[in-house]
Amino acid sequence: MHEPLRCPVCRAPWKDGDSCYRCRSDLTFLRLIMQKAGGLRKRARALVSEERLEEAQRLLDESLRLFTGREGISLKAYILALEGKFELLAPLLELLTERGGPRTTSRG
Ligand SMILES: [Zn+2]
Repeated sequence: MHEPLRCPVCRAPWKDGDSCYRCRSDLTFLRLIMQKAGGLRKRARALVSEERLEEAQRLLDESLRLFTGREGISLKAYILALEGKFELLAPLLELLTERGGPRTTSRG
């Protein structure tokens, strides 16, 4: 989820360009997908600030179907919390913490 996107051909990390820096495969579709997902997430965030939560959820779910990243999952968790659907939060919070590593370091 929080891992860098990779070239589907050679698995090199995607560096935001339209072609893979290593194998030169055309990765325009990755950029287009990320732009579409980002646009939907941005619109969802605006709807949240207008307290239009149902519409926000719909757009955000569409965004998450395109790309499941930390930002989208965090927003999803926030909306669910606003709606009082706390029972649905656990799996999302698990996703947010499982690959991010421990949040605090033990010093004693
Ligand atoms: Zn490649």
